[in-house]
Amino acid sequence: MNCEQAKLCYAIRDSLYLNISNRCTLECQFCPKTKGNLQLHDYDLSLKRQPSTEEVIAQLPNLAPFQEVVFCGYGEPTLRLKVLKQVAQHCKSLGISTRLNTDGLGNLVHKRNILPELAPCIDAISISLNAQSASVYEHHCQPKLNKAYDALLDFIKLASLYIRRVQVTAIDGLSEVDIAECKQIAESSGATFLARQLDVLG
Ligand code: SF4
Repeated sequence: MNCEQAKLCYAIRDSLYLNISNRCTLECQFCPKTKGNLQLHDYDLSLKRQPSTEEVIAQLPNLAPFQEVVFCGYGEPTLRLKVLKQVAQHCKSLGISTRLNTDGLGNLVHKRNILPELAPCIDAISISLNAQSASVYEHHCQPKLNKAYDALLDFIKLASLYIRRVQVTAIDGLSEVDIAECKQIAESSGATFLARQLDVLG
């Protein structure tokens, strides 16, 4: 993988991660990006501009060694909805599983339910809940949009109706975050739950 590829595609274990956005709906206090650091392991994920569908596809390596393609990076993939869907569809046509890591605010941003559009090309979705209440969420994630936490809960509830595997995550170690309550929110919405560790990336 050459230097330019490392910015759009990066491998962690048997997953190939695609970095398609440099914009976020949140400004998470715990995120290295918020502190100006866009390094992940050996990869510099800073993007000078938003890559097109063609540019992302052109830089895909041979997918045979990978179990899945994951849309992730230091930016929210659903802010690039068209590119996300087109690249995911391309990956599916090559027979590889797709996963979306998201802040779960795509419906709020796009003012419509985007899950039916994702269903044909996304096999699994991982949604960052990060808090058991709006006030704790606003403290840690600093959403730019109003009523973000309510929209996130709605997205989590809807996701299982459209996507086969839905996982909800929160970070263990953040002040005021109640992991047991986050788990309960996830499981009552039909999702599985994963507690991530603070400062452990990828
Ligand atoms: S949404 Fe993700 S990339 Fe953006 S600030 Fe939060 S943790 Fe960082």
